[in-house]
Parts: sequence; structure tokens; C-alpha cells
Amino acid sequence: MGIFDEVEKIIDPIKGVNFLNRNGKTLLSVGFEDHPKLNGYYEGVMFNQPKFESILRHRAQKYENIEFKLGSSLSNLEALENHNNLEVTNQETHEITPYTSTYVIGADGADSFVRKHLGIKMHDYGCDQDWVVVDYLVDDKYEILDKARYQICDYKRPTTLLPITDNHIRWEFKINPSDDVAQLEAEDNIREWMKPHLWRINPKIDVNSGKIIRSSKYTFHGLLVENFKLNNCFLIGDAAHQTPPFLGQGLCQGIKDSYNLCWKLDGVRNGLFNPMVLNSYDIERQEINDFMIRTAMKQGEVIGSQDRFKSFMRDTFFAIAKKFPAALSALKFQYSWKFNNGIIDKDLYPNNVNGVIIPQPDINIKVENKKFDQYINDSFALIVFSNEESLKQKLSISHPLKFFNENIHVFDTNHPFMSDGKLLKWINDNQISAVIVRPDKHIYGCCDKENLLFKMEKLTEQLQNELSK
Ligand SMILES: Cc1cc2nc3c(=O)[nH]c(=O)nc-3n(C[C@H](O)[C@H](O)[C@H](O)COP(=O)(O)OP(=O)(O)OC[C@H]3O[C@@H](n4cnc5c(N)ncnc54)[C@H](O)[C@@H]3O)c2cc1C
Repeated sequence: MGIFDEVEKIIDPIKGVNFLNRNGKTLLSVGFEDHPKLNGYYEGVMFNQPKFESILRHRAQKYENIEFKLGSSLSNLEALENHNNLEVTNQETHEITPYTSTYVIGADGADSFVRKHLGIKMHDYGCDQDWVVVDYLVDDKYEILDKARYQICDYKRPTTLLPITDNHIRWEFKINPSDDVAQLEAEDNIREWMKPHLWRINPKIDVNSGKIIRSSKYTFHGLLVENFKLNNCFLIGDAAHQTPPFLGQGLCQGIKDSYNLCWKLDGVRNGLFNPMVLNSYDIERQEINDFMIRTAMKQGEVIGSQDRFKSFMRDTFFAIAKKFPAALSALKFQYSWKFNNGIIDKDLYPNNVNGVIIPQPDINIKVENKKFDQYINDSFALIVFSNEESLKQKLSISHPLKFFNENIHVFDTNHPFMSDGKLLKWINDNQISAVIVRPDKHIYGCCDKENLLFKMEKLTEQLQNELSK
């Protein structure tokens, strides 16, 4: 989105997550710093969402083709097969302005007017949980010594302690059936809940060491639309899915929805792709969001058990599973967000790599002053991993494919983007000699070195048929 320099100023890398039992004993520590940086950057960062959204809005204001209608809301929608009729109401004057549009993107949050108006139902994963979410500003005189994140798996009061940035701490406390509902958000009550854990931030902190700026009860849901699309209306973000926040993925997946949709809409609008390509938006995002919600629920079960026996079993399981890391896979925080259906090669050279996001070399590595994802740009890219430089010439001649838009590259082992070893390891581990990368950086397909040119030809033809038919 071109906002990295500004976003970098408001984020703090996440160091890791510690799962503790009710006696404060560590069940498991996941150190993010030990993870390979698949995205070329920190694996997780913390930020304050309003600050991030202000950067987004500022960026959007630079586009002359975006018109802001702040203080207005969509109040009517008629979704026809070829166009949409809309009405927008100014909340102050109640004036109604009619619009027609070819496409509608409903990015209107959990209570989505667009979703409801289209009559799109949501699948409920049945994991509703009530938590109190608290934002707490620690007094400036106290340094936040430990920036680690804690999941305190106490069956009597499951608690999340999460330093955000600067002196901002996010707390989440699970509500017990026996709690006094009227008292849940009260300051005295919240401070009482914080008391046993404050020392983790700084041992000198006392219970009145900061200001509670928000305490609200939330019901965490697992919900996913039955379809992300109806005619030419699309749903993105919370309008399409809601997840318990244990993986920290709600907003992240909303951004991924839009990245998935944008290149497809762009190609269809430019007459490059067949409109059928837009159906893949639903297929691909269903699969990934379903995976995300299920994984977040599994984490929620580990963290939030309120049953004494089950939590005893969990603690025992942790003690044993520590010796068998695979048993703890539900608690990892690094995913390749693979999908198996949609715009992906399923037939010619199926493998475990198709559908994943291509690893990104360290973002400090630049060629022509561009990071890897900028360098391979926003169209389909064909990358061949070879020391034979003349291949580019041969490939350009044999693949005059309009979708590549000249975006054909040959990386030899000395290429700067191979220098941090990440791509090199990835191609060696998976025996990849060439790869077609989609505009959203998911892999369309790849092949090994046997008959490379022939295979690339076939794969390219298949892609061309898929996008144009
Ligand atoms: C406690 C908690 C912790 C979370 N932690 C994380 C985390 O760690 N990581 C993460 O990635 N996500 C997290 N999330 C989720 C994240 O906040 C949401 O996924 C994200 O804000 C959704 O963005 P959105 O743009 O889809 O919807 P929203 O942010 O809800 O925005 C919808 C917008 O649409 C507008 N709107 C609604 N109706 C209309 C209408 N009729 N006409 C015009 N405009 C309309 C609204 O005013 C609003 O501005 C968390 C959420 C909660 C509650």
C-alpha cells in the first residue's frame, strides 16, 4: 500500500508468547524471534489500531478517484446482475443521494448492512465467549520491562496480558458464569483482576500505577459467510468473518481479503480476465478464513478452559508434549496461508507449494531500490531459478503471455534476492526450478528442472486458459 515508512514508526515487534498455568509456571514459550522471517520482516508486530487507521485514511486521501462521504451511510442497496442501485444517507441532513455502480465492496464491519441486505447467511462455529477487554496506560514513571505477551491459563480467570506499544497494555479477562454482570467493567473490579499479574510488567508497579482508558465486554465469535459474493457485490473483513482474537488475525485477514480481490477486479475491469475469475475470491477466502477461525478456536480452548479437570489435563499434556513439539502445532503462530482450490495449478504439477505465499527475502535487500515484492510487481510473475542467463531470452520468446507483462525473471544463486538464503532453501527443499507467482504473491504453480521449458509452457497455457476462458 506504500505506507511502510509511516507504519514502521508506530509498531513494536512481538517478542513471543508465554503460556502460563494458574501458578505462573511456564507451560510453553513461543519465541517469535527464533522463527524464520518468512515475510522478510518481523513475524508479528503490535500497534494501536486507530493510529494505523489514520495512516490508511491519510493514504486514501491522496487518491483523486476516492470520494469521502464521512458522516453518511449506505441506506439502501439493490444488487442486480449487471449493476447495483444504492442510496447513501447523510446522517446530519438526512439527505439521500442515489448512486449506481458496477461493483459494491461491503467493508462495513461485523454488523454489515451490505451482508444483511444481500441476505448472505453466516456459518456459526458455536464458540461464543464473553471477555472483558481493557486498555490500560501505565504511568510514565514506570518502565515496561517485559514486552512479552502472556496467556495466563488460569481456569478461575483466563487472562491475556499484552503490551502493545509505548506504555499501552491490553488486558483480556474471561468472564465466569458466576460474575456479577453489573460490576464487570467497573474500575475497582478490573484493578483487582490485574493485581496478581502487574509485577510481570515491572516488579515496582502497584495496583494504581496507571489509567484505565477503556473496559468493555465483548462476545468473541467464530462466524464465516456462506458466500463472499453475490452478483457483483463482495464482502471483505469483519463483514465476511469474525474470529476469536487469540491468533491476532481479524484485521490481518481483512487486508488479505482485499489483496485477493483487488487484482481480480482490476483484471476483469481492464478486460484482461474473464469475469468468472471473480468467483475464485469466495473459494480461496472461504478456505483460508475457515482455517484461521478453527485455529484461533483451538488456541482459545487451550487458553480459556474454565473447567478444573480439563485444565489439569491440559497442563499435564503440555508437560509431556514439550518433548514432542509436533503435538503443539495448534499453538504455532506461523502459517503459509495455503489454499487448495481457486486460481492455482491443481492438475499439472500438484505439490505442497502451490497456493502458499512465496517467502520474501529480507526487506532490506533491494534491487533497483525495490524490495522483492515490489520488484516482481503486481502482475503475474514468472521466476526461474537457474544459472543459465540466456533462459530469460528463451522464456520471453516462448511465453509472450500478456499476464506476465514482461514480469519474467531469472535468479541465479548469486542474485541479491537469494543472498539471505531463504529463497534458496525454499527452492532446494521443494525442488523448484521455476514458479508462477500471482499478483497477491501466492504461488499459482511451479515445476522442477526436468524439461523445464516444456513444463513452463504447459503451466503458462493452463493459466492463460483459466483466466481467459
Ligand atoms: C478485542 C479485540 C482484539 C482484536 N485483536 C486483533 C488483533 O490482534 N489482530 C487483528 O488482525 N485483528 C484484531 N481484531 C479484529 C479487528 O479489530 C477487526 O477485524 C477489524 O477492525 C475489522 O475491520 P473492518 O474494516 O472489516 O471492520 P470495522 O473496523 O468494523 O469497520 C467497518 C466500517 O464500516 C462503517 N459502516 C458500517 N455500516 C455502514 C454503512 N451502512 N454505511 C457506511 N459505512 C458503514 C463503520 O462505521 C466502520 O467504519 C481484534 C478485535 C477485537 C474486538
